[in-house]
Amino acid sequence: MPKKRKSRGRRKGGKGKEDLVQCDMCGALVPRSKAIKITRPVSVVDPQLARELRSKGAIIPVYRVTKYLCVKCAIHRGIVKIRSEEERKKKTPLR
Ligand SMILES: [Zn+2]
Repeated sequence: MPKKRKSRGRRKGGKGKEDLVQCDMCGALVPRSKAIKITRPVSVVDPQLARELRSKGAIIPVYRVTKYLCVKCAIHRGIVKIRSEEERKKKTPLR
């Protein structure tokens, strides 16, 4: 059977079943290796105010928030893009 992707869109390999994670946008259950994991720094303070406070020497904590997204939501929000057949063959760093 012809394959669209060598990895079949996952990082599972031949290991069988794996845990499901919930998409943080739509709530869909997706396999952990298929889900798109994004970690972003999130500040509790408004950016403009944070800049002012930092110039005055205050230390503002920055939290890192990790989210799991299903492929549909990641495409919709532009986190991953649709790639052409040739581009899909190129190796990408692990997300
Ligand atoms: Zn989703």
